[in-house]
Amino acid sequence: MSPSPRLLLTMDYESWFAISRRYDNMTSAKRRAFDGGFTQWVIDPLLEKLGDSKISFYLVGELVEWYPELPQKIVDAGHEVGFHCQVHRPLLSVDDVRHDLERSADWRKKFNVRGYRAPMIKAREEMYPLLVENNFVYSSSLYAPTGTMLQKDGIWEFPVSTHSLSDKPNHFAAPRNMNLSLLMNGEFPYASGMMSGFFPKSIFKIIETELKNGQSPVIFFHPYEIIRPDRWPARMAWDFVLEPFILPFAIRKTKLFDELLRAFPTSTMLEFAQEVIHERSRN
Ligand SMILES: [Zn+2]
Repeated sequence: MSPSPRLLLTMDYESWFAISRRYDNMTSAKRRAFDGGFTQWVIDPLLEKLGDSKISFYLVGELVEWYPELPQKIVDAGHEVGFHCQVHRPLLSVDDVRHDLERSADWRKKFNVRGYRAPMIKAREEMYPLLVENNFVYSSSLYAPTGTMLQKDGIWEFPVSTHSLSDKPNHFAAPRNMNLSLLMNGEFPYASGMMSGFFPKSIFKIIETELKNGQSPVIFFHPYEIIRPDRWPARMAWDFVLEPFILPFAIRKTKLFDELLRAFPTSTMLEFAQEVIHERSRN
């Protein structure tokens, strides 16, 4: 038995420049100046938009340093606070992941953070034991067909959904990020902001069908895809020239977001994880 089907809508809570690698090595103060208060004010209209739908927010810890009230606002509205990374950039080695976890330990402990989403959905197998050590229950850091649930070194992995156009894969070692081999294997990563801007109608249909089949799709959005920062995406024009593949993230996804919330039941990932764990312990 799986938990009752629901849409596992998630939000990687990061500033508008996090899609570009040009800001990774700046000082935190400089990044904060670029953010210009966006991630501080956008939380209120986002929470209002969510209404009674509960979702999981994966926070960039640096934003908690800038705006300490953020996690409490999310918790008070009944949502889950998860962890995306402390500073948004690719975590290329196990040491990078370890260091990132160390830097975020205090605020994660304060808010009892149990869910993890790797930046760029780029996971490594060796990171799972570190997640156990850091009190995580689950991760959502791979792409895989909807309904895939994996156990890795004591951590549940609930991947971001793909729609399998050919035979379902049977090998789920990390990393399984957005790349050509994923697409060549017939997996359509519809739940990523890379795709959801181009095919909103098809994505709605896929989700509807999967829910009818008793599955719980995992999809993610970013704040800037739903509510626009000041002069955005125009102010990233140069980034789009340097990194054209990030352009799909600039497409507004407000309509899809609103329609999904209106049409389907949601829950936090942690609630889903706890139901899975409960079911398994009874069998
Ligand atoms: Zn991210």
